[in-house]
Amino acid sequence: MVVVLERDIRNAQKEQIRSFLENHGFQVREIVGVEETIFGAVGASPIDLREVEILPGVDKVIPITKPYKLASRELRKDDTVVQVGPVRFGGSRFTVIAGPCAVESREQILEVARIVRKSGAVMLRGGAFKPRTSPYSFQGLGEEGLRFLKEAGEATGMPVISEVVSPSHVAMMREYVDMFQIGARNMQNFELLKEVGATGMPVMVKRGLSATIEEWLMAAEYVLAHGTENVILCDRGIRTFETFTRNSLDISSIPVVKKLSHLPVVVDPSHATGIREKVPPVALAAAAVGSDGIIVEVHSDPEHAMSDGPQTLYPEQFEKLMRDIEAITPVLGRELVRLPDRPDVRPVFGGGAPVSEIDGSTTLRIAFQGARGAYSETALLRYFQANDVTAEAKEAFRDVFEAVLQGQVEYGVIPLENSLAGSVHENYDLLLRYPDVTILAETKIRVEHCLIGPAAASTETVRTAYSHPQGLAQCRQFLEDHGIAALPHYDTAGSVALVAEKNDPAVAAIASREAASIYGMTVLREGIETNPHNYTRFAIVGHRDHPPVDTPNMAALVLATPDAPGALSVCLQVLAERSLNLQKLESRPIPGKPWNYMFYLDIQIPEDKEKFAEGMSALAAVSEDLRTLGLYRV
Ligand code: PEP
Ligand code: MN
Repeated sequence: MVVVLERDIRNAQKEQIRSFLENHGFQVREIVGVEETIFGAVGASPIDLREVEILPGVDKVIPITKPYKLASRELRKDDTVVQVGPVRFGGSRFTVIAGPCAVESREQILEVARIVRKSGAVMLRGGAFKPRTSPYSFQGLGEEGLRFLKEAGEATGMPVISEVVSPSHVAMMREYVDMFQIGARNMQNFELLKEVGATGMPVMVKRGLSATIEEWLMAAEYVLAHGTENVILCDRGIRTFETFTRNSLDISSIPVVKKLSHLPVVVDPSHATGIREKVPPVALAAAAVGSDGIIVEVHSDPEHAMSDGPQTLYPEQFEKLMRDIEAITPVLGRELVRLPDRPDVRPVFGGGAPVSEIDGSTTLRIAFQGARGAYSETALLRYFQANDVTAEAKEAFRDVFEAVLQGQVEYGVIPLENSLAGSVHENYDLLLRYPDVTILAETKIRVEHCLIGPAAASTETVRTAYSHPQGLAQCRQFLEDHGIAALPHYDTAGSVALVAEKNDPAVAAIASREAASIYGMTVLREGIETNPHNYTRFAIVGHRDHPPVDTPNMAALVLATPDAPGALSVCLQVLAERSLNLQKLESRPIPGKPWNYMFYLDIQIPEDKEKFAEGMSALAAVSEDLRTLGLYRV
């Protein structure tokens, strides 16, 4: 059952409820959600729920109807985020695990680890105990293989996962792996599930060869019931009448499981298909259908792999797959999980355990402009998904710059450019006015607008909609088609707060899905923007004293040219002669100097740093003013 606690419950009351439940034979878990705190109580003993309901401090009691209790969405409404070392799974993240089917030698696993890490994998796989169909096939290197796997993980900064096949191996294996893998053939080996669950360590539960979704969730329940909270599900295809592929991937299991359970779900396209060339398209389909990541087999020499060679990707195929994933994740509203390029680089560039310079805690303070639920907040939370963050809402962009300058926050997130509406000039102006605030990184999100109103409203009842003028302009077609009048408001998320206050079925707001949920409003229609190719690019800004970005590949500059014929052409010539690639060029009036212009430039920094540095001095020599807004990695 789910015991929802009163918001202002006292600790003593909480403990009384806990002991009452435990004395009645229940296992109790406290779950602190965004909206409420609950006790999840599971156990075999029958109890009249009303006995719990009357305890002081209890708001309400909801029975869990599903046989899987701890794994059920009924218990936990929010997505569970599973942390494995610096890597997280779940929420809006997309996490990639890669590596060979089996660890074959020290050299092999070190080489494959380096290859997959370079292309963007964040976790390393490698079997040491292989459950093979034939007893004469390669069975894995056992403990020695785990030692090599751990060494390869440490050398490349990736946590590691390996399959456990026997309860008697659990104690030994926990010294080597960061996450246990329960293989398809062992999904219902209940003694194994209990033993692994009792370690409290992260566990991936693969779907059995002919397991129903409910049986699969029950296997996860075993692991959860024995002590761990960190469980990930993995669909790797099931046995059907089809023989062309090794298994049949039940692609619809992903949205089904996401609805039934709060646990992250990943897909193994390698075992699902058994055919190398089918792996990338199926991996992309998994992302599209809502999977929280993939686990994929890669080898430096698949032709000579000791197991599963035919389904194992070549390094080039994996690299291409990662590029494709990187391209589609923003469209799907997901952030690809990354690791820092160098372990000592601070978390703004990926995962890693952050330490705040402000208060020494592991929570980063980051400012954004707008009300809670603003697109800037979404961008912020997605970008810093590997970290614990406190997002601080500021009224104006200027306040974000001030907070960074004064050291009240570690970073700020500001929009620079929208793919439909163009540059956000105010922020470029502020970057010039605050030379001590610099661009450290950038992130892009797809902007998907929703029509949001009270639960009683529908597209038929709504007559007027509030939003930021940009939001209104971007949804003009929808508003016209539905005869809805547009009313400008200072900010998208703020308009949802306003509409919540009005609580009138004729009045709606246009904002993000996140804003609707923050203000307890209903999404009446989603995807109402006229052009679905609607992206906003945000800069992550920090103080100039922040350690510089390791190997930056992009420079954001502002340039003023002398007032002379051909002056801009001279500047561009400097870049052209050095083959420096210009990504953006935009002119903008210089404030206070009518009819004089400055230019925003984004220039790719080539591998040859000398060439870039020399280009910059040459550019400075021919321009009137040249300023760097940031050197960062994209
Ligand atoms: C594996 O991951 O190497 C493996 C054996 O997978 P499965 O248990 O899904 O067959
Ligand atoms: Mn395999």
